[in-house]
Amino acid sequence: MPFSHDMVHSLATVVDLVNSPPGDLDELGALVLRRQVSGVEFVNATDLAEVQALSAAFHEVFTAPDEDAAVTLLNTLLGRTRITPSLTRHDGFALHVHYFAPGASLAEHLAADCGVALAHVLVEGEWERLRTCSAPDCANVFVDESRNRSRVYCDSRTCGNRMHVAAYRARRRA
Ligand SMILES: [Zn+2]
Ligand SMILES: [Zn+2]
Repeated sequence: MPFSHDMVHSLATVVDLVNSPPGDLDELGALVLRRQVSGVEFVNATDLAEVQALSAAFHEVFTAPDEDAAVTLLNTLLGRTRITPSLTRHDGFALHVHYFAPGASLAEHLAADCGVALAHVLVEGEWERLRTCSAPDCANVFVDESRNRSRVYCDSRTCGNRMHVAAYRARRRA
């Protein structure tokens, strides 16, 4: 998947947003720092509610039953987001495109940048790369960037390792 680095960054942000929806303002602030969301000075209760709703909306895109449903859900999300592409260089990042409109709220900022990144995944015919972890007790989503679309766990070090240990134990018991 020859995605540009800022797209990869936006995809990692949407995965983080879906898997770890902020429960309070501290967690929202931590998300902004962790994902290096530019131009956000402070966050308030409105931002929190909007970002929580956005997290749920993106979760629906990841867990859509088929490609058409994912397209419809993503179009709805993009349709209510103001988008203004602009080339930018900041904080040591190479030249990249921001999609959020001037004066965008935090939720609009994330909806624009992450929504466009997901749109590119769908346009490339890569809908199947939007996955949910196969571990039975894990609901995390992820973007499978492996060459042969073979990834099944959200994280090979945690869920992958845990499931391999469980399979090993099951074989030993058999
Ligand atoms: Zn940027
Ligand atoms: Zn998992």
